[in-house]
Amino acid sequence: MTVKHPLVDLLVVGGGTAGIVGAKLATGFGVRTVLVEHARTGGDCLWTGCVPSKTLLSAAEHAATLRAPTGAPSE
Ligand SMILES: Cc1cc2nc3c(=O)[nH]c(=O)nc-3n(C[C@H](O)[C@H](O)[C@H](O)COP(=O)(O)OP(=O)(O)OC[C@H]3O[C@@H](n4cnc5c(N)ncnc54)[C@H](O)[C@@H]3O)c2cc1C
Repeated sequence: MTVKHPLVDLLVVGGGTAGIVGAKLATGFGVRTVLVEHARTGGDCLWTGCVPSKTLLSAAEHAATLRAPTGAPSE
Protein backbone atom coordinates (compact mmCIF):
# COMPACT_ATOMS: atom_id res chain seq x y z
CA MET A 1 0.00 0.00 0.00
CA THR A 2 1.36 3.43 -0.92
CA VAL A 3 0.66 6.33 1.43
CA LYS A 4 1.08 9.82 -0.02
CA HIS A 5 2.43 12.50 2.34
CA PRO A 6 1.55 16.12 1.46
CA LEU A 7 5.08 17.43 2.16
CA VAL A 8 7.49 14.50 1.83
CA ASP A 9 8.12 12.14 -1.10
CA LEU A 10 10.97 10.09 0.35
CA LEU A 11 12.04 9.10 3.86
CA VAL A 12 15.64 7.93 4.15
CA VAL A 13 16.40 5.97 7.33
CA GLY A 14 20.06 6.22 8.36
CA GLY A 15 22.55 9.03 7.75
CA GLY A 16 25.56 6.91 6.81
CA THR A 17 27.29 7.02 3.45
CA ALA A 18 24.40 5.32 1.66
CA GLY A 19 21.70 7.45 3.27
CA ILE A 20 23.49 10.76 2.71
CA VAL A 21 24.34 9.99 -0.92
CA GLY A 22 20.84 8.67 -1.59
CA ALA A 23 19.13 11.65 0.03
CA LYS A 24 21.38 14.13 -1.79
CA LEU A 25 20.77 12.44 -5.12
CA ALA A 26 17.00 12.37 -4.59
CA THR A 27 16.99 16.04 -3.58
CA GLY A 28 18.94 16.84 -6.77
CA PHE A 29 16.08 15.29 -8.75
CA GLY A 30 13.58 17.50 -6.93
CA VAL A 31 12.33 14.74 -4.64
CA ARG A 32 11.20 16.18 -1.29
CA THR A 33 13.34 14.15 1.08
CA VAL A 34 13.66 13.70 4.83
CA LEU A 35 16.66 11.89 6.32
CA VAL A 36 16.50 10.53 9.87
CA GLU A 37 19.58 9.46 11.81
CA HIS A 38 19.41 8.01 15.31
CA ALA A 39 23.08 8.38 16.27
CA ARG A 40 25.75 10.45 14.51
CA THR A 41 25.37 11.61 10.92
CA GLY A 42 28.19 10.15 8.83
CA GLY A 43 27.81 6.53 9.89
CA ASP A 44 30.58 3.95 10.08
CA CYS A 45 32.75 5.42 7.35
CA LEU A 46 33.15 8.79 9.06
CA TRP A 47 33.29 7.71 12.71
CA THR A 48 34.82 4.22 12.92
CA GLY A 49 35.70 2.98 9.42
CA CYS A 50 37.31 4.67 6.42
CA VAL A 51 38.34 8.02 7.88
CA PRO A 52 39.76 6.95 11.28
CA SER A 53 41.50 3.87 9.82
CA LYS A 54 43.21 5.91 7.09
CA THR A 55 44.21 8.54 9.67
CA LEU A 56 45.84 5.82 11.82
CA LEU A 57 47.61 4.29 8.81
CA SER A 58 48.94 7.70 7.78
CA ALA A 59 50.14 8.47 11.33
CA ALA A 60 51.88 5.06 11.54
CA GLU A 61 53.58 5.68 8.19
CA HIS A 62 54.88 9.08 9.36
CA ALA A 63 56.11 7.56 12.65
CA ALA A 64 57.95 4.80 10.76
CA THR A 65 59.57 7.36 8.47
CA LEU A 66 60.73 9.46 11.43
CA ARG A 67 62.15 6.38 13.23
CA ALA A 68 64.05 5.09 10.18
CA PRO A 69 67.76 6.03 9.99
CA THR A 70 68.40 8.72 7.36
CA GLY A 71 68.67 7.20 3.90
CA ALA A 72 67.42 3.77 4.98
CA PRO A 73 64.02 2.60 3.70
CA SER A 74 61.34 2.46 6.40
CA GLU A 75 59.85 -0.92 7.39
C1 LIG B 1 37.66 -0.34 9.66
C2 LIG B 1 36.84 -0.03 8.41
C3 LIG B 1 37.45 0.61 7.34
C4 LIG B 1 36.73 0.90 6.19
N1 LIG B 1 37.36 1.53 5.16
C5 LIG B 1 36.68 1.81 4.02
C6 LIG B 1 37.31 2.46 2.94
O1 LIG B 1 38.50 2.81 3.00
N2 LIG B 1 36.60 2.71 1.83
C7 LIG B 1 35.28 2.34 1.71
O2 LIG B 1 34.67 2.58 0.67
N3 LIG B 1 34.64 1.73 2.75
C8 LIG B 1 35.30 1.44 3.89
N4 LIG B 1 34.65 0.81 4.93
C9 LIG B 1 33.24 0.43 4.76
C10 LIG B 1 32.31 1.62 5.00
O3 LIG B 1 32.51 2.12 6.32
C11 LIG B 1 30.87 1.10 4.84
O4 LIG B 1 30.75 0.51 3.56
C12 LIG B 1 29.88 2.24 4.92
O5 LIG B 1 29.99 2.90 6.15
C13 LIG B 1 28.46 1.69 4.74
O6 LIG B 1 27.59 2.80 4.76
P1 LIG B 1 26.06 2.65 5.07
O7 LIG B 1 25.44 4.00 4.92
O8 LIG B 1 25.51 1.52 4.28
O9 LIG B 1 25.99 2.14 6.60
P2 LIG B 1 26.48 2.88 7.93
O10 LIG B 1 27.71 3.69 7.73
O11 LIG B 1 26.50 1.78 8.95
O12 LIG B 1 25.31 3.90 8.26
C14 LIG B 1 24.07 3.48 8.73
C15 LIG B 1 23.49 4.62 9.56
O13 LIG B 1 22.14 4.32 9.84
C16 LIG B 1 21.87 4.69 11.17
N5 LIG B 1 20.71 3.91 11.59
C17 LIG B 1 20.64 2.56 11.74
N6 LIG B 1 19.40 2.21 12.11
C18 LIG B 1 18.66 3.34 12.18
C19 LIG B 1 17.31 3.62 12.49
N7 LIG B 1 16.44 2.64 12.82
N8 LIG B 1 16.89 4.91 12.47
C20 LIG B 1 17.74 5.90 12.16
N9 LIG B 1 19.06 5.71 11.82
C21 LIG B 1 19.50 4.43 11.84
C22 LIG B 1 23.16 4.39 11.93
O14 LIG B 1 23.25 5.14 13.12
C23 LIG B 1 24.21 4.81 10.90
O15 LIG B 1 24.60 6.16 11.03
C24 LIG B 1 35.34 0.53 6.11
C25 LIG B 1 34.72 -0.11 7.19
C26 LIG B 1 35.44 -0.39 8.33
C27 LIG B 1 34.75 -1.08 9.50
